[in-house]
Parts: sequence; C-alpha cells; structure tokens
Amino acid sequence: MKYPSRVFFALIILAAAGCRSSEAAAAVPVRRDGVYHSVRKGETLWRIGKAYSISVDELLAANTPVKAHELKVGNALFVPGGRRVLEILPWSAGKPVKTRPEKYSRRWRYIIIHHSATKTGSARIFGDYHRSRGWKNGLGYHFVISNGTSGLRDGQVEIGPRWKKQIIGAHCDARGMNYVSIGICLTGNLEVQRPTKAQMESLRRLVRMLMRQHNIPASKVAGHGNMDRGSKCPGKNFPLSGFRRDIANAR
Ligand SMILES: [Zn+2]
Repeated sequence: MKYPSRVFFALIILAAAGCRSSEAAAAVPVRRDGVYHSVRKGETLWRIGKAYSISVDELLAANTPVKAHELKVGNALFVPGGRRVLEILPWSAGKPVKTRPEKYSRRWRYIIIHHSATKTGSARIFGDYHRSRGWKNGLGYHFVISNGTSGLRDGQVEIGPRWKKQIIGAHCDARGMNYVSIGICLTGNLEVQRPTKAQMESLRRLVRMLMRQHNIPASKVAGHGNMDRGSKCPGKNFPLSGFRRDIANAR
C-alpha cells in the first residue's frame, strides 16, 4: 500500500539539560530491560533521569543517536532498568515525580509485526493516511519503529494514539486479531529492503517489554502473514524465525 509522501516536522523542541554528545554516551553500559517513556511537554532528560534514578549518560546511550537538545514531545524514550512508566510533574507542582499505576487493557494476547510497505514514513504520516481512509481513530498500529526517514531517528519507537488510549487496532482483520493483538509496524518496504539494525534492536526491546507487561509468550508473537495467509507482510526480508528464537531465548 502507498502512503502520501507528505512529511510533518511540526514537533516541539524542548529545553533540555546539558549538551552531551552521543559518542561520549556510547561507552556507558546499558541495561537491556526497561520501559518506554513517552516524552511530554516540559520534560527534560535530566528530570526523566531523576525520576527513574538513571543517569543522563545511560539514557542517552540507550537511545543513540538521540541528543539532549533533540528530545521532542511524543518521543518514546527507552528507560533501561525502568519497571513501570512514571508520570513526571512540573517543578511548580512541588514533588517532582508521581507514580501512577499503568492502566492497560486486558485484551492483549498477541503481538503482530508489520512493515509499512513504503520506503519512508512515520506514525503521523501513516495515521493521516489511515484517517483519510475513514478510520476515525487514525493510525491502525499501536507502535511504529522508524528506519530513520521522515525526520525520525533510525530505530525510534513512536507510540500511537491507540496504545495511549488502549483501544483496538486496525492492522489485522484476520481471525479477529484486531481485538486481541498489539500491532507494531516497521517503516520500510521489507519485500525489497532489509530492516535496519537499529529497528531490529528496538523491536526486540519493545516486544520483550510487551511480553513481560502482558504475559504474552513468544509463540504468540507473529508476522501479519502468519495470521492472514493472503498477506506477505512484514515482507520476505523480515527475519521472522530468527527473531522469534531470539525473543523466546532472551531472559
Ligand atoms: Zn501488515
């Protein structure tokens, strides 16, 4: 399927503490398990780090090549060692951090992987396309993982509105999967190109986090084509069997 090639850059750049290079941060050892924190207005790496008790260097290393001054509202920032997502209140509210129990729907029993079948794109671009097709909740997937096109970082995870609202997806009609599965889309046409290394690393991390959060076994992580035999998605270059082995063996 083809998406319009409009690109949206209207993201708000946040004031952020420090200005460290990602090269310097790359030497910091990074824990592999953690959570994705969706950046909100007014948050900085320093305050996020403070809330999760993690250094800015480790945060940067876990999100290379992000730089502190590039932190944007809506970015999904991987927080190594995080056990659950925290709400970070503005300084004016007094206490810097409030913990809030995460509210997830209980419906999630499968994880389905897609490709966009386009060379470029973003959650915003795909969402606009889906909306133009009459899907009032926009982006059909819950997550999009960028291949470094359309103004995003390679491997950047975008959290879609359907995940934030915990509502059903519009990505796999077959076998009622929209009602019970989490949809993740890798940007790229994986029939003709390969997923990037950074995309695969982000996918592994995201899928493992979701498996833990929702008690989903590796056997219920599938490619779109496994559920819908008419679909070639996520493309012949997606290394499905190796990926499934990897997440099944990961501890
Ligand atoms: Zn698909």
